[in-house]
Amino acid sequence: MSLDTLQPVRPGHTSWDNTPHPSVKYCADTVNARYIHGRPEHELVPSRYALKVGAIDVLVVSDGVLSLPGAMLGHNVDPAVRAAWLEDMFLPPDVLEWALNAVVVRSGGRTILIDAGIGGEFPDLPRAGLWAQRLEAADIDLASVTDVVLTHMHMDHCGGLLADGVKERLRPDLRVHVAAAEAEFWESPDFSRVSMPPGFPDALRRTGKRFLKEYHSQLRTFENEYEVAPGVVVQRTGGHTPGHSVVRLASGGDRLTFAGDAVFQVGFEHPDWYNGFEHDPEEAARVRVRLLRELAANRESLVATHLSFPSVCHVAADGDVFRWVPGPWEY
Ligand SMILES: [Zn+2]
Repeated sequence: MSLDTLQPVRPGHTSWDNTPHPSVKYCADTVNARYIHGRPEHELVPSRYALKVGAIDVLVVSDGVLSLPGAMLGHNVDPAVRAAWLEDMFLPPDVLEWALNAVVVRSGGRTILIDAGIGGEFPDLPRAGLWAQRLEAADIDLASVTDVVLTHMHMDHCGGLLADGVKERLRPDLRVHVAAAEAEFWESPDFSRVSMPPGFPDALRRTGKRFLKEYHSQLRTFENEYEVAPGVVVQRTGGHTPGHSVVRLASGGDRLTFAGDAVFQVGFEHPDWYNGFEHDPEEAARVRVRLLRELAANRESLVATHLSFPSVCHVAADGDVFRWVPGPWEY
């Protein structure tokens, strides 16, 4: 597979698997049924992880998990091939729990929230939406936040900012950085190429519109790139959504990229599998390959929204594809 010849697995067909997705409620019930002895209380599982990138403080914060249909991992793939991959990865065949990570960065006297979890935007995903409560548990006062960076405006990335009581606690001079192409997209979003469970497109449209309305006066849009604070640069990639962006951190020779939804777990081994949330799947695959190649070459750290918490890892090249190399847990 090469970047220039990246093609759908079955050219001419955007989706190999035409089976409709089950509802998100079904997914949540299926996952809950696996925990026959009950599940740990929320605060007994790790929910934040701190690290340093040179002089920049970084905190990965878990919003919880999303229970979603496994087919969303690669909707352009033969279901038998996808099932075999899930089996190889010791993952259940039908419903997966996707991590939902956000990040807090401190640099040059600024406190920057990168993405915000899902908030209360989709009640059938009750195990997510914990972002505000976990910031509070980490002693991060919303009134101290100077900037918010959104990788994109899907509800699992901006919904936390719409949760009850959050906006009131943020400063009136807060700056919310998002690519101009993203803000424009959500005025009239195109869902013709996605593959999502029932109810998702409507909820995403509703959340995107509401976010633009409520944070209109705080929005600071950028075209391709913007330096939010020393060593903290947001860069538009497009693909997943037209204004999807990644955040590059660099300080004292250390580097880390927060990739948002440019990389999913399956994307290392199968970067050409289309994720159901991608609005332009071909471009999303090109973005993924380009980014993974760059991260493999310069050996920097990667954190991504839907990789297992805390998701700090490296990328290795493996022929034409990639390997995920988990980082050590630092004590
Ligand atoms: Zn996402």
